[in-house]
Amino acid sequence: MEEPLEFTGRCVICGLSEKPYSATLGGPVYPSWNVPLCPWCGTDKFRENIHAFSDIIDEELAGTNIIDYKNPVFAIVTDIGFLGVEHPYLKALKGVIGVVTSHAAAKGIIATRELWGIATVRHIAPILSTLSADLKLIELVIEEQGGIKYIKGVKVPPESALMKAAATKLSGNGDRASSFSLSYVIHKSIDQTLQIIHEKGGLDIRKREGIIKLYQVLPDKGIVRIPKSFTSTLALVYGAWLLDKTEFDEAFVARFMSLRGITGKAYNEIISILTAMRPHVVQKIFDCTLQDLGYGPIYSFKFNEEYLRLRERVRERIRERGSA
Ligand SMILES: [Zn+2]
Repeated sequence: MEEPLEFTGRCVICGLSEKPYSATLGGPVYPSWNVPLCPWCGTDKFRENIHAFSDIIDEELAGTNIIDYKNPVFAIVTDIGFLGVEHPYLKALKGVIGVVTSHAAAKGIIATRELWGIATVRHIAPILSTLSADLKLIELVIEEQGGIKYIKGVKVPPESALMKAAATKLSGNGDRASSFSLSYVIHKSIDQTLQIIHEKGGLDIRKREGIIKLYQVLPDKGIVRIPKSFTSTLALVYGAWLLDKTEFDEAFVARFMSLRGITGKAYNEIISILTAMRPHVVQKIFDCTLQDLGYGPIYSFKFNEEYLRLRERVRERIRERGSA
């Protein structure tokens, strides 16, 4: 039986509520929207950009067997991924990806029994469905016994991004490989979710279409928990990058996050990633400078040259597609 999901009026990507109230503005910040996407994540441009960048990640992956973090495409995906690796709502997904990438290179078939210990079957099953049916990163090995079909295990095709992450893990850099794979899966799933909403005009929340399959759902209550500090940062960085901003300041980040209910420790963690102050961060996405505008020091974030060039490549891709 389908459990009812409580989801009305929230952006499925960043978790923004439909009508955040602003005391300064004296009313709702945004007008209401018809699809589960906020005005930031819901533009055609955001969708096209995410899709084109998604293509570019796959193109880079096709040309390599190992993830080289010097490649700015892999670096940006990995760095943002650090926020997901630590997120409690993504524990099950991280666990599944962890088991798969740890055993993919050595074992032909990874037994499902290795996966069931990570979280409840109810939680793991939709994740396996996303990884196999939607994203084609793994294959399910189905067996039949006494007329009952069951999942015996999973296989990772050699060309899968998860196989490449597995090889990278073996050569050291396990942290980065985990971060890359988790972030890659979320990125692909966001891309696919935006396409579904675009084509069908909405998302079937009850059937847990798209990225909802990867989210934690509170049993009995049917509440979908969006890992906002991760997905909002992803939306902020890709959004700002792809929607023509070359520079923004910390006040912009603080407002973007506080509208989505992200403050305190989670907010500081985001700033430590964006300023590349955190250990393991691969590459600086931004050139950061600290400014004092008279009310205490705040950061200003300017995309570094490498990411501005990459943005041109994304645009080029969209133009090619438009004229095809
Ligand atoms: Zn949003």
